[in-house]
Amino acid sequence: MSDEPAVAEWLARGRAAVARIDLGPKVETVGRVESYADGIAFVSGLPQVALDELLRFETGQLGFARALEADRVAVVLLDPGDAIEAGARVFATGEVARTPVGEGLLGRVVDPLGRPLDGGEPIAAVAFHPVEREAPSIIARDLVTEPVETGLLVVDSMFALGRGQRELVIGDRATGKTSIAIDAIINQRHSDIVCVYVAIGQRTTSVERAIEAVRSGGAADRTIFVVAPAASPPGLQWIAPFAGFAMAEFFRDRGGHALVVVDDLSKHAVTHRELALLTREPPGREAYPGDIFYVHARLLERAAKLSKALGGGSLTALPIAETDSGNLSAYIPTNLISITDGQIVLDRRLFAANHRPAVDVGLSVSRVGGRAQPDALRDVSGRLRLQYTQFLELEMFSRFGGMSNARIEREMTRGERIRGLLTQPRFSPLRLADQVALLAALDAGVLDPVPARAIPALTARLPAHLDSAAAPSVAAIARNAPLDEAMRADLVARVRDLSTELTAHSS
Ligand code: ATP
Ligand code: MG
Repeated sequence: MSDEPAVAEWLARGRAAVARIDLGPKVETVGRVESYADGIAFVSGLPQVALDELLRFETGQLGFARALEADRVAVVLLDPGDAIEAGARVFATGEVARTPVGEGLLGRVVDPLGRPLDGGEPIAAVAFHPVEREAPSIIARDLVTEPVETGLLVVDSMFALGRGQRELVIGDRATGKTSIAIDAIINQRHSDIVCVYVAIGQRTTSVERAIEAVRSGGAADRTIFVVAPAASPPGLQWIAPFAGFAMAEFFRDRGGHALVVVDDLSKHAVTHRELALLTREPPGREAYPGDIFYVHARLLERAAKLSKALGGGSLTALPIAETDSGNLSAYIPTNLISITDGQIVLDRRLFAANHRPAVDVGLSVSRVGGRAQPDALRDVSGRLRLQYTQFLELEMFSRFGGMSNARIEREMTRGERIRGLLTQPRFSPLRLADQVALLAALDAGVLDPVPARAIPALTARLPAHLDSAAAPSVAAIARNAPLDEAMRADLVARVRDLSTELTAHSS
């Protein structure tokens, strides 16, 4: 009998629970497909649907509401919609599109909704975050002061990238845009930065090549691949960069660091235009709808260096854009240049002349990264850009012949050595110490006697040589110690070892 109070309480709780059940009539939000074509379904009977709300078709496909008209909704499909027929039922979900976030994504290839494309298990997600999120406010941000090392000498020495920065990589077709971004990702294999590579509307073969390059570069376990290939529904391609940012924000908001590559926003803009024309939004300049600037600004604003109070995490964005015949003043390129904190401009002629990475030093700029450059590198690279651009001018003039004196000869020799240093094969990132050693040696005139064509060989052999002959200096620079005279002399002497050897060989 001692159980009686317990039983009574149990009964009371049960009755209360039953009383809470709502047995009244419910409004179910079910609409009907009116028509479907090209990845967009027009649905009627859903007057209370909100913009961006996720809808589920009776045949299982997902889509989101893009345009709300008086009596119908334009729904952008996130799945292939060929099976959708007029009259099919559509259910409003009251949700927005979400993507899984968490460490479980690292090393995986997924679509923008986090569904595996690598044949692996479903993602073990920590949470599901909306793909669209608000950017951190100004108060929530801190100045960009820590570097993102790309391992590319031309970028790290002249257009340094900072954590939280947005730097555009822009150039014509096949000028090495993707390669620069992949190199930057590979260089994070020993850093604390997590990478997200978002491929939008790319050919499957080039996406496979990029993934393979990151894998063999040893950075795959720090990288998430978000892929919406050219053949996927336009809606999926449209949300891909937003989903990639959401995945990266998970790390940023925990005080971690992330780098997002968006390959590329020109294709994203074209997808946006396609969807806008299909939903009959009024076209503007170059037939893009007027909100394309807003769409890309909203996305890239989410890159940030967070304040200490918020954990000090960062999200760096490396969006890619394509130009037509080097035309930077077309609509999408000017938009993106004005949204980002600088641009790395790739040039078709430099690429054809085998000057790779084909960075146009005159047109490229990094507006906030200078402050983030490690001290040792800043010490040795301060005059590099000026020296090199002066050389380029001199070279152009000396084509006309006739100008020659000792000073000009000297500047030409030096300039050709700089060009040799800026030429770097793919997938062979240089560490900070390697770059500092090379630039200090350049400054000391150690490279001048080395034939310009032998410089790549010197660069290739340097890391191993430094490791065996100057390990303490390498370690000090990796710890971000300032470059003192002894260290500088040590590094210059090690480069001299190799330069003497190579000069002897080739003479
Ligand atoms: P797309 O416009 O097709 O996207 P892209 O501008 O992204 O092209 P990549 O795909 O990166 O260019 O490079 C084009 C080709 O140039 C590749 O085949 C690659 O092997 C070569 N390439 C790029 N960078 C270098 C480099 N630093 N050294 C040697 N070859 C390179
Ligand atoms: Mg590319």
